[in-house]
Amino acid sequence: MKPLLFGTSKINDQGILEIGGVQATDLAKDFGTPLFVYDTALIKKQAQGFKQTFEELGVKHRVIYASKAFTSKAIYQLLQKEGLGFDVVSDGELHTALVSGVNPDMIEFHGNNKSYSELLTAVEEKVGMIVLDNFHELELLKAITKEKKQIQKVMLRVTPGVDAHTHDYILTGQEDSKFGFDVKSGQAANAFEKVQESQYLHLSGIHCHIGSQIFDTTGFSFATEKMLEILMDWQKKYDYVAEILNLGGGFGVTYTSEDHPLPAKDYVKQMVEKVKEECDRLDYPLPEVWIEPGRSIVAEAGTSLYTVGSRKDVEGVRNFVAVDGGMGDNIRPALYGSKYNAFLANRALDELTEIVTLVGKYCESGDKLIEDLKLPKAKPNDLVAMTTTGAYGYSMASNYNRNQKPAVVFVENGKTQLVVKRETIEDVARFDLDLK
Ligand SMILES: *Cc1c(COP(=O)(O)O)cnc(C)c1O
Repeated sequence: MKPLLFGTSKINDQGILEIGGVQATDLAKDFGTPLFVYDTALIKKQAQGFKQTFEELGVKHRVIYASKAFTSKAIYQLLQKEGLGFDVVSDGELHTALVSGVNPDMIEFHGNNKSYSELLTAVEEKVGMIVLDNFHELELLKAITKEKKQIQKVMLRVTPGVDAHTHDYILTGQEDSKFGFDVKSGQAANAFEKVQESQYLHLSGIHCHIGSQIFDTTGFSFATEKMLEILMDWQKKYDYVAEILNLGGGFGVTYTSEDHPLPAKDYVKQMVEKVKEECDRLDYPLPEVWIEPGRSIVAEAGTSLYTVGSRKDVEGVRNFVAVDGGMGDNIRPALYGSKYNAFLANRALDELTEIVTLVGKYCESGDKLIEDLKLPKAKPNDLVAMTTTGAYGYSMASNYNRNQKPAVVFVENGKTQLVVKRETIEDVARFDLDLK
């Protein structure tokens, strides 16, 4: 396997990985490891790949970053400058967005179990859109907006029954899902009627999210057809016309050489074409099209740097190479069996002479980052670069074994900026109280 390189990443003449014009070895020296490094030029390029394509096509739109993929003040601030909106799914993400200076009108609140207090905060902060997911929160929000005498824009999240053919754990569009109102059984229509009963809820449109790590546009095409079927039905029955059609996120990225996602602009082009075609065919007014990319904005821009420590070589069985991080900073291999690529960032031109299992330092046999990885003979203090770790890595990090969460740095044009500090040894015990 050749190193998979993204954005501004390259291997210099000394065989050292450079990201944003900064050597990985210098980053490791200055900030320690494990370390998340983000190529911000690539983040902006991805964001514009979606946004500019909509603009070129002259379609009203909103590109909303699903901020659960990687949440931090700096990423909100960076993407706000690019004109993106933000999907938040908890009071914590909402708080982070607000203290980052995000315009509340550009925030969309998602989630399948929003609490009363989360909904109250969202209304008080004048969040631009709340995507209703179930009857419980619909009633809560009705009560809150009535009490406050405040209009709130909402969308209904529906499950149109589209199977995007990806991994079960990250498949959220089908009927057997904890998310959204089911269409077939009449839940969605029932929810529609309940929203219309309220004078404070303004129904802006409908939403679906059919899955994740999707490589073509077939699923989105099906979803568009289903969504327009629903809208046509509501037009006939209730004389309702949607302002917004939100088709969710899930655009694929390259983790290994086996992944072949489309460029951002192709997803947008094909989705917009399909929406236009369906609206023309059905004589339905073209709604604004919203999408919610998370992974595809940040995944390939992120690289994890680890330092090699111990090895365990079992003759004829397996060679294990252990690094100073693992499932605490990247749970995806253990949780989903996700595949990744990695190489030695300090010796990237060396011949790949052995096949190893790259493991972490956590007390779980399942703490394997990559199985069957070709590397040069790795020794202590070698630097491992694991690529495409920018999404659902840091944001799913834990303090298991009381390890400290890594630092996060942004790099661009030879400049480095620390955007999330490394946790300290004191941090891991900060909530503990002495026994009385
Ligand atoms: C997670 C999620 C997204 C983003 O998915 P990606 O695969 O990261 O693009 C978008 N919308 C909703 C509702 C989600 O739950």
